[in-house]
Amino acid sequence: MRTRVAIIGSGPSGLLLGQLLTGAGIDNVVLDRVSQDYVLGRVRAGVLESGTVAQMDECGAAARLHREGLPHHGVSLAFDGQNHRIDFSAMTGRHVTVYGQTEMTHDLMDHRAASGAVSIYEAANVTPHGFDGDRPYVTYDKDGATHRIDCDFIAGCDGFHGISRKSVPASGITTYEKIYDFGWLGILAEVPPASEELIYANHPRGFALCSMRSKTRSRYYIQIPLDQTVEGWSDAAFWDELRRRLPERDAAAVTTGPSFEKSIAPLRAFVAEPMRFGRLFLVGDAAHIVPPTGAKGLNLAASDVHYLFNGLREHYAETSTAGIDAYSARALARVWKSVRFSMWLTSLMHKFPETGPFGQRIQEAELGYVVGSEAASTALAENYVGLPY
Ligand SMILES: Cc1cc2nc3c(=O)[nH]c(=O)nc-3n(C[C@H](O)[C@H](O)[C@H](O)COP(=O)(O)OP(=O)(O)OC[C@H]3O[C@@H](n4cnc5c(N)ncnc54)[C@H](O)[C@@H]3O)c2cc1C
Repeated sequence: MRTRVAIIGSGPSGLLLGQLLTGAGIDNVVLDRVSQDYVLGRVRAGVLESGTVAQMDECGAAARLHREGLPHHGVSLAFDGQNHRIDFSAMTGRHVTVYGQTEMTHDLMDHRAASGAVSIYEAANVTPHGFDGDRPYVTYDKDGATHRIDCDFIAGCDGFHGISRKSVPASGITTYEKIYDFGWLGILAEVPPASEELIYANHPRGFALCSMRSKTRSRYYIQIPLDQTVEGWSDAAFWDELRRRLPERDAAAVTTGPSFEKSIAPLRAFVAEPMRFGRLFLVGDAAHIVPPTGAKGLNLAASDVHYLFNGLREHYAETSTAGIDAYSARALARVWKSVRFSMWLTSLMHKFPETGPFGQRIQEAELGYVVGSEAASTALAENYVGLPY
């Protein structure tokens, strides 16, 4: 088989890139090692920046997002028993949209199927080859045979554990990493959310986040040490701990119910540089991970796609390599700013046992400054709604 762009990975970055390329008449093939249903079953992000929504618009897949997505014009920071709202719209003129990653993935898959573009699921041993020369190709195993896709470029959209980054010689890549010694225990429950907007809570017992996927489905998280397990947390224990960490009024507004998903996400920041190796590009989680506190992971995947898609479009339409040559530097400039914001918000909101009561008081002082200063609130709002591309 021959295509122009072979895309490894059918998460948000692979599917978004595929749809934008297809819309621009640039032939592409998406490969994933797991099934479509498996991809759709992964519950992850849920807060979309306006730039991400604009790209869903650009590839014609945003109709349901506009119908069902919840525009959020602000967020609350809760600490010291009080809840303080940061008004995104007043401070930046922009907002975010709450829409589950699974829904976005679903919409992109439907549009891809309707456009007739080729997707290959349950492809084993997907391997990129020859990307340091002019004739890259990808091989994979399926139905008892090894197949080969010749292409012009390979987009490595295969997440943190994918094969693309691992295919690059170690001498050509620099990685930066910070691993936190706590994680988020998250649950999904078919109950109305405690609040119309997200509540980020700093509490001496640890961080808590009240979030949602819709007006009837809530997503809640609490910070836990990494040595704890999902099995060790009953629903009742989760709800009790969540409410302890919220101001009284917010705690009283929590509707409890049985969870239908419960998982632990470890917190990590990771960046690989550069993001281009000859004719192989790393995109999204394949190149970087941010702690989820700033809701940036999926949105960074989308901004990488923006830079890469425009570079590839320019290459095919104008035979200019300027865009693809600038891809890594442009993407990384935005990535590092989002890593900074995500780590700052993480350090502000979580309990760090090693800093003790002194650290807690410093956090409360900084939170007081953030909510009391228009400049500081605006800086938070500007980063949360998404820095410009
Ligand atoms: C538990 C969890 C919770 C999260 N919560 C949030 C959140 O609240 N907010 C937020 O913004 N972000 C969150 N994120 C991050 C966000 O989900 C990711 O940033 C986003 O999924 C990145 O998209 P991606 O397409 O780059 O990678 P992925 O979504 O990881 O997709 C990669 C795809 O590549 C496929 N693949 C992997 N290896 C191979 C291979 N060898 N061959 C072929 N295919 C392969 C995988 O099956 C997968 O489908 C969370 C992530 C996790 C893991």
